Amino acid sequence: MKKRWSRRLKALGIALLCAGALAIAPRPARPAVPARPAQTEAGPLAGQVILVDAGHGGTDGGARARDSGALEKELNLRVALLLRDALTQSGAQVIMTRETDTQFSQQKRQDLNARLDLAREGGASMLISVHMNEYRTRRESGPQVFYRQGQEQSRLLAGCVQEALIAELQPAKERAALAGDYFILSLSIPSVLVECGFLSNAAEEKLLLDPDYQARVASAIRDGVIAYVSLSDAL
Ligand SMILES: [Zn+2]
Repeated sequence: MKKRWSRRLKALGIALLCAGALAIAPRPARPAVPARPAQTEAGPLAGQVILVDAGHGGTDGGARARDSGALEKELNLRVALLLRDALTQSGAQVIMTRETDTQFSQQKRQDLNARLDLAREGGASMLISVHMNEYRTRRESGPQVFYRQGQEQSRLLAGCVQEALIAELQPAKERAALAGDYFILSLSIPSVLVECGFLSNAAEEKLLLDPDYQARVASAIRDGVIAYVSLSDAL
């Protein structure tokens, strides 16, 4: 009798131990959240896919600098490549429309459509087209950002980039972001066209040809994009 009880108690003890083991057994792990690619892991622009368009290229030179004869397409490319690096360092994934002196088509509309296709196919969340301005009189100067009328997010982005360009470049003339009817701004994602300055203005032409100034322009555009992203996150 005694022996049987002790056997029962022993069995009960083992059962309790098993129940305890079950209670403290780790729950099945939740499915892991897929990790983002390493390049977008950190930085204020993590998760952003930004199309950077170096305006013109190939047979389309764009504006010509009055004194040096430099072509807009070359300066656009230099600033665009610096902008690519600045945005990438801040965590964005960047798609370039060109990284050399090329064009998709000699027909302007086809060329622009091919650039927009890159943004569509790449799933771009933002578009920045880089240009240099010119005017018939040499007096006009100052960087200016354009957006498509009626696109509220593009207007916000343009305002942030314009503000950063003024704060960081301290141009002689402070311009305001403006609505502009450019085909490259026709997607529904936030899109801006940045005229970095006037190649028809003697002082600004000198600045725009200077690699240090080009880097400051790129860095200001990047800072404007960061300001826009933190602003739209807060809304
Ligand atoms: Zn242009």
